[in-house]
Order: sequence, then structure tokens, then C-alpha cells
Amino acid sequence: MCRPWEVSGLSDRGELVLEARHVTKIYPISGNRTLTANRDVSLKMYRGRTLGLVGESGCGKSTFMRMAVSLEAPTEGEILFHGRDVSHFKGEELRQHRQNIQMIFQDPGEAFHPRMRVMDIICEPLLNFKRIQRQEREAVARKYLELVELPGEFAWRYPHSMSGGQRQRVGIARALTLEPEILICDEATSALDVSVQKNIIQLLVRLQRERQLAIGFICHDVALVQSLAHELAVMYLGSIVEVLPGERAAAGALHPYTRALMGAVFHLKMDFDKPVQCIEGEVPSPVDTPPGCPFQNRCRMCREICRRERPALRTVGEGHQVACHLFGGGE
Ligand code: ADP
Ligand code: MG
Repeated sequence: MCRPWEVSGLSDRGELVLEARHVTKIYPISGNRTLTANRDVSLKMYRGRTLGLVGESGCGKSTFMRMAVSLEAPTEGEILFHGRDVSHFKGEELRQHRQNIQMIFQDPGEAFHPRMRVMDIICEPLLNFKRIQRQEREAVARKYLELVELPGEFAWRYPHSMSGGQRQRVGIARALTLEPEILICDEATSALDVSVQKNIIQLLVRLQRERQLAIGFICHDVALVQSLAHELAVMYLGSIVEVLPGERAAAGALHPYTRALMGAVFHLKMDFDKPVQCIEGEVPSPVDTPPGCPFQNRCRMCREICRRERPALRTVGEGHQVACHLFGGGE
């Protein structure tokens, strides 16, 4: 397995920064129905470590991270930041808390105002929180541009005169200005060319080391996620089906869904140019989900119990949990 960026192993997970406990998110949709975007999700993020969240499109990854960064409140469950439930923070308390967790998205170009110069983009959060004066913008922006390995002169540029990779670096710089403890990257490298993607990930790994950042890395490309995740969580139809150490993901995955995703990785021999092959069939709708295992209709090993009972997430090894009747439970 290829892990080009040295990430440390299982031992010494360190300080727990964020913990989601039994988080469920239900959206009301038309016709008085509901859509369960996250169901009973429990995950932990540690200082200086990366939690990778993987799964096909629509499985609930962004919904989870939006709750983690307090952009949305869970329907049920708790989000603990250093042990304190922040899930229902409001007003000024919420505004202050948001400094702790920053997020970067797929195309920062869309998030940036086209008429704003890079220095204004980078310094906007600091100005909003009155941490710097307007006249300090250029000097501060230059410092952060250097941090993300861009020339200081970029402070005077506009978003349209930069490449996608450069814009993403500016996005990272902006996210770091408030010295967050957690950085969430939601498909942040997905739109970039392969080589650019690798450079951005190397940058993130370096920044994590220097700043002991807890990183939440969402990606539908399992090959990429496992290359940098210390902990890897696999989501399917709003549920966590497996959590395992990133370094063991390729060889140690147990859940048929994870193995199918990983099988695609093996097949591709970590060729980043090719998309990960999809598993047969489609992800069912998160509206009116049937009882039993969420993966039942696509699983070759589906048994009678799988249609009847939803498998609980069970610990099967150190740092390894799996929700499947084939492992440790059921008949
Ligand atoms: P992912 O990031 O894994 O692609 P999302 O978290 O964006 O998945 O979406 C999970 C499910 O929740 C999808 O079926 C999506 O349509 C639904 N969803 C997300 N946000 C909303 C919303 N605000 N209202 C209703 N449904 C939503
Ligand atoms: Mg998403």
C-alpha cells in the first residue's frame, strides 16, 4: 500500500478535540416525509491527526461535517468540543466557537468574492473578529501566503488570476488565520489535477505537523483518503459502517462495502488518474429506508438477519469497529 506522506501509526492517539456522540440528522422534505442524512453517528477527532471520511456521493459526509463545524445542529445527539456540548450554541457563543473549527471546500473560487484582493480574502476573518487593523492586511497576508508556499506579491491579486491550486492554497491560508484547532476539508482537492492535489495534501500534512491541527478530510476517493488519514471512517447511507486505522485500511477492512471500495483501490494500484470504480447497484434513497442493514441490497453476503436487524457498530480490534452481521454479532 502506498502512503507517500509519513503518517504515524495507531499508538498514542493523543488529545481528543471533537467528539460526535450518537448524532442523527433528519431533514423534513416534501409530502410530510423525512430524510435521514445521518443516523446515530459517533466519531472522534484528535489533535494532530486526520480523520478521513469516505463514502459515495450522497451518503451524508458533508451533513456530518456541517454539524461538526456548527453550521447546523443535529436532530439528536451531541457534538462535544473538548468535552463541552456545542451543538446548540447560539448567537455570540456560536460566533466565538466557530473560530475553533474552519472549513475549506471544493472550489474556493466560488466562495471568494471576485472583486476582493487576496489580502482581503485572507484577512477577512481576522478583521471580522477585530484581531487586526485594516492597515496590517498586507503584512499579515504575506505571512500567511508564505505559510502556504505562495509568493507574497499574490496579496495584490484577484481570485481569477490564480490557478485552482493557488486558490485552494489561499483558502487554506484564510482558514488558518484564526488559528483553529480543527480544519475540515470537504472534497477540498477533488476538483484539482492529480499532481496539484498531491502538493496540496503534502502542504496539509506539513501544516498539521507544525500546528497540531486535527483535520477532517472528506473525500469520495478512497485511495486518496487512506493515504493521509490516521483514522478512516466509512459512511454508507448516513451510517458509519466501519472505522479503522488508515494504515490498515487496504489490508484490514472487513465490511463488504469498505472492501468493495478498497477492491477498487487495489485494482487501480493507486493510480490517481483513474476514478475509483463503483460497486454494482445504486445507493438507496435515504427516505423511507427499510429495516436491517443499510447495505443489504448491494451486498453479496447478505443473509436473512441482514434484512431484519440493523447491525450495531462493534469493536473488532484496536481502533477498529465494524457494523456487519458477519463480524461478531448476529446468528
Ligand atoms: P455527501 O456529502 O456524502 O455527498 P450529503 O451530506 O451532502 O452527502 O447529503 C446526504 C443526504 O442528505 C443526501 O440525500 C442529500 O440530498 C440530503 N440533504 C443534504 N442536505 C439537505 C437539506 N438541507 N435538506 C434536505 N436534504 C438534504
Ligand atoms: Mg458532500
